[in-house]
Amino acid sequence: MDTPRYAKTAPRAFGLKAKLLIPLIGIALSALFATGLAIVRIAEQGLIDASQEKLINSAAVVGNSILEKIARARADMTFTPDVPGVAASVNPEEKENFPDRAAYVAHINTLLAKLGEVCGYYETFYVVSDKGMTLVCSMPSAVGTLDISNRAWFHEAMATDNSILSEPFRSRITGDALMAIAQRFTHKDIRGVMVGSIQIHKITHAAVELEAKPWLQVYVVTDQGAVVAALDEKLLATSAFAAKPWFPSVLEADRGQFTMQEDGEQKLVAFYHLQGTNLRAVAVADAAHLLGPARAVRNIGLIAVLLSVLLACGIIYLTVAPVTRDIQRLADFAESVAQGDMEHEVQLARQDELGTLSRSLLRMLHTLKQMITRAEEATRAKSEFLANMSHEIRTPMNAVMGMAHLALQANPEGRQRDALLKIRRASESLLAIINDILDFSKVEAGKLELDHVPFRLADMVQSVGDMLEEDAKRKGLVLDLRVAPDIPALVVGDPVRLKQICINLCNNAIKFTSKGSVSLRVSLWETQGDELTLLFSVVDTGIGISPEQREMIFDAFAQADGSTTRRYGGTGLGLAISRRLVELMHGSIWVESEVNQGSTFHFTIRVAPGPRDLPEASCSELPERTEKVVENLLVLLVEDNDLNQEIAVELLRSMGADPVVANNGEEAVRFWLEHDIDLIFMDIQMPVMDGLEAARRIRASGKPGSAAVPIIAMTANAMNVDREKSRDAGMNGHLTKPIDCDELRRALQDWGQKARERVTPA
Ligand code: ADP
Repeated sequence: MDTPRYAKTAPRAFGLKAKLLIPLIGIALSALFATGLAIVRIAEQGLIDASQEKLINSAAVVGNSILEKIARARADMTFTPDVPGVAASVNPEEKENFPDRAAYVAHINTLLAKLGEVCGYYETFYVVSDKGMTLVCSMPSAVGTLDISNRAWFHEAMATDNSILSEPFRSRITGDALMAIAQRFTHKDIRGVMVGSIQIHKITHAAVELEAKPWLQVYVVTDQGAVVAALDEKLLATSAFAAKPWFPSVLEADRGQFTMQEDGEQKLVAFYHLQGTNLRAVAVADAAHLLGPARAVRNIGLIAVLLSVLLACGIIYLTVAPVTRDIQRLADFAESVAQGDMEHEVQLARQDELGTLSRSLLRMLHTLKQMITRAEEATRAKSEFLANMSHEIRTPMNAVMGMAHLALQANPEGRQRDALLKIRRASESLLAIINDILDFSKVEAGKLELDHVPFRLADMVQSVGDMLEEDAKRKGLVLDLRVAPDIPALVVGDPVRLKQICINLCNNAIKFTSKGSVSLRVSLWETQGDELTLLFSVVDTGIGISPEQREMIFDAFAQADGSTTRRYGGTGLGLAISRRLVELMHGSIWVESEVNQGSTFHFTIRVAPGPRDLPEASCSELPERTEKVVENLLVLLVEDNDLNQEIAVELLRSMGADPVVANNGEEAVRFWLEHDIDLIFMDIQMPVMDGLEAARRIRASGKPGSAAVPIIAMTANAMNVDREKSRDAGMNGHLTKPIDCDELRRALQDWGQKARERVTPA
């Protein structure tokens, strides 16, 4: 079956809206994110750098302040030996001012104590001999008892002109953290060393305390990790830093910073080398606190970026959505026009390209409507042409067939009879072709409507067999008809059209088979609710159809092989009509075939099961062909064509009627008024007054019986509309030309009977 040409388009997963919004929003997102993040990152980094610089400065401030104190202590060591009397302490023979050595030592001891007190940061302040033995001291008890000959820094001091700063150590007397500063001097060729034990906290505490914050501690450490300055004095003179895993980083440069992890917290470390010493100031801060402002800037920046992204998305959406909505409206409009709805209109109140498009579409719709109107007019003209042509061809055909029939009734002999039989067969074939062409045009124009009447399937199949029996027998073929017993006897459908399909297929089967058999089988394919699907199969043992040919034989005017026409004749319309009829019956048709083995044409149709009983057809038992079916029946034959008049009069007479002839509608009306007519056969197309008008006038004439007299149309107009027209004009039946003798006989019998009943009611 053909798929509908305009299947409604399913909504697409990625419509225009998505296609526009996704990239636009994507671009906006990435651009805003990239620049926003870069700005935030730069701002954050600036703040981080500033914090780090501040931290290094803290370390430097503490470091430099201590460096200054140390420099002063170095100066103390240089000038103290110059104080009169102090340097002389290195000479045991010194008796200059104090002949008593003990009094001299006591005097110098007191002097040193006073000097140390003035400086304020010495625990002891003393002079040692070049052997390391204390000669004079601010703490008199140390004289002669304190021996520093085993201290490395003493030997270093002895070896240089510069002052030497010792590693920090704990005082044996007070337990305070100390650092010794030593300066060699010479007195009259005798060497001695001036030493001061600095109380470390006294020179560091102020600076360290000044810089310290709850989140920041500053330390001064030696390169070996011994603590020289710390707010927590317990740490002083310990090697607390030597064990820290990050401590080696502090020694790598003169100044710098890094982050490290301690006690599960992130810390920022800045360090500063005290020039000319092995000391380093180290500042340790909580990263969270120090970087807090930078983090805050970052968070605020991210929120701002996010908000601007949302804003951008909103703006893009509000710009794109109305455009895609209007495009969707235009698409819906085009779709509804495609579905055949010509009344749906669209008008966008826009001044841009979409507005222009909507106006163009509207203009297109109006043009389309005009074209449809024109096409419909053309189709009407074509239908009229077909009706006329059918009439024009059928009228002479009627004459040919009727004359042949009449001539055969006279029982001619020999060659004459043979010729007449050939004329009859040829005209029947010609009629079949004309019928095919008409049928095809009707189906194509959608004008073919199917009947829905109950009928006996077996009778229909039998009548197909009856029609084909002779042809099959002539070719020596076995004709086999079977209807499956599970199909209801009566079904509802169009028996005439169904028979037409079966005859088409069986005719082909016989035509293309030279030996073997042709069979028609009907079986039940499927039952769905109260609908049955029947399967018809026409099987032959003929020439078969090749796969390529199978593709095209259902197309109109197509024959499997051009030479077919020459050998077998045919128009190539049979299967095309059959296919369309099958489709109208909600089924499908297909073929299976093997070349030189035979073909099987299958088709399905949907029918409803019929009632249990069907009154026997009134005409089922027709009298013999020559038998009279009526007596003394005055029949008015209205017909303008002489030849047809002659044939009809002969036929009616042979069937027992008394015909009188009127040449047109007007005469017919006059005849009706003047005679007691029993039955009227009325042609439709006639000069002066046509049959439809005449029938209407007779019905309206007011003469007794004018409403009841049977009027049967007898016309070459074979289309359904013609039947409707004649019924509307008040006629009782419709016979088509060329006149089928059996049909005429049946009509005469049925309506003659009714006419009699009318005259002499029982
Ligand atoms: P035609 O009037 O020419 O028979 P159809 O439409 O009935 O037109 O058939 C079209 C063509 O299909 C035929 O000309 C023939 O070539 C092929 N055809 C139809 N039925 C048979 C068959 N039973 N065996 C072989 N060929 C067939």
